[in-house]
Amino acid sequence: MSEARTARGDGREVCVIGAGIVGCASAVALSQAGWCVTLVDAQATPGLGESRANGAQLSYSYVEPLATPAALRALPGWLLAADSPLRWRPRTDWAHWRWLLQFVAACRWSQVSATTEALLALSGLSRQVLHRWLAQWPTIAPATQHARPGKLVLYRDAAARPAVERQIGWQRAWGCEQQIIGADECRRLEPALAASGGGPIAFAVWTESEEVVDAALLAQALARASGATLRLGERALRFERGRAEGGEARISALHTEAGRIEADAFVLAAGPAVRALLQPLGWAPPVEPIRGYSITLPVHQPSMAPKVSVTDAARKLVYARLGDRLRVAGFAELCGSDRSLDPRRIEALCRAVRETFDGACSFDDPQPWVGLRPATPGGRPIIGATRWPGLWLNAGHGALGLTLACGSADLLTSMMSGQKAPIDPAPYRLPG
Ligand SMILES: Cc1cc2nc3c(=O)[nH]c(=O)nc-3n(C[C@H](O)[C@H](O)[C@H](O)COP(=O)(O)OP(=O)(O)OC[C@H]3O[C@@H](n4cnc5c(N)ncnc54)[C@H](O)[C@@H]3O)c2cc1C
Repeated sequence: MSEARTARGDGREVCVIGAGIVGCASAVALSQAGWCVTLVDAQATPGLGESRANGAQLSYSYVEPLATPAALRALPGWLLAADSPLRWRPRTDWAHWRWLLQFVAACRWSQVSATTEALLALSGLSRQVLHRWLAQWPTIAPATQHARPGKLVLYRDAAARPAVERQIGWQRAWGCEQQIIGADECRRLEPALAASGGGPIAFAVWTESEEVVDAALLAQALARASGATLRLGERALRFERGRAEGGEARISALHTEAGRIEADAFVLAAGPAVRALLQPLGWAPPVEPIRGYSITLPVHQPSMAPKVSVTDAARKLVYARLGDRLRVAGFAELCGSDRSLDPRRIEALCRAVRETFDGACSFDDPQPWVGLRPATPGGRPIIGATRWPGLWLNAGHGALGLTLACGSADLLTSMMSGQKAPIDPAPYRLPG
């Protein structure tokens, strides 16, 4: 019997497909609610998909979606600039164009504020759930480089200030404690910025409560803590529909490369692969891969490397200190499922570190990584029942999967277990 299971459980069997950060968190929450969990992943170790070397930010107060009126206005400039953080390679498939149209439709203030509110509720829940688990398993925080260094978002352009002031004023009602500070205060909070050659700082937003963690290590620790039966190195192939009971036939089994798994319920948490696994059933959710890059550098001059999390708003890059390493991540490319690594992007990340934190890191082996953010057009993850009884979805977390994973897992588990939902589940329902 796993440490995580409680006496409340009735031992129903659930199979979670995908041992990324979302699937591993789901395994813990379900196990704690008394489900008998089997966790399946194509990789040999949990956390090696899109969670592997991400930006490491538990960005609880920075959840505004990518689709905003400002993003729509800036889009033409971004797409034309040679060094733009954004890149788009048009494709011919209808799903891609439908996603783009839905993205454009989501760039309305009414939609942005509803999504931001929904994501702040989910991120607040996520923080509570993660903290509960870290208290329950005290070895996880040190093993996953979890820390609460706070976050500085640097703005190089003073003209951005009124909009930023409005945003943080509005977010205060949601419990986000954020302050606008000047360049001197910024360098006091993060002395490694003192020698910054990355350009003058106009102002910054300081959020003391923001956290960091290594996503792959956290996924692995949660997979262990869940007590789930791990079926790793086993690719899921397709779902099997059982006999119909009056309505749509129930999903009764999962076929994998290694056999067939029966369960009372299935949770699909396969990141960007959810579309491919659902397509044979005749429908797939609007989840589009958005490619991003990271490097992970050994810190050889600790005083010159940032201790707080830093986001460079103009370059759209994040820096996170993970013990004696610096993780730097960024860029957003709509290029389908192509995982090829553009060396110019890696060079741009290395250049940004040299310019902003000169002398802090060694570049001998920058550990380049490319990952695909599984993004919905409007930026809300899809959490809940599907149109096939027995099959649940926890996917589409885009640029915030690490931040939102524990709350998403808790919310999904409450729905599957027939318990009162901790927050309103309506914003995350599967689109029709
Ligand atoms: C460059 C970059 C930086 C990012 N930075 C941050 C950040 O700082 N903070 C944040 O909150 N988020 C960040 N994200 C987003 C975050 O990484 C993702 O939202 C998150 O990893 C998605 O988790 P997931 O569990 O849904 O998917 P994954 O981690 O990809 O997990 C899905 C799992 O399913 C498995 N799988 C897929 N298909 C099959 C199959 N057929 N059979 C069996 N297994 C299968 C995969 O092997 C994988 O392990 C970043 C993403 C990128 C790319």
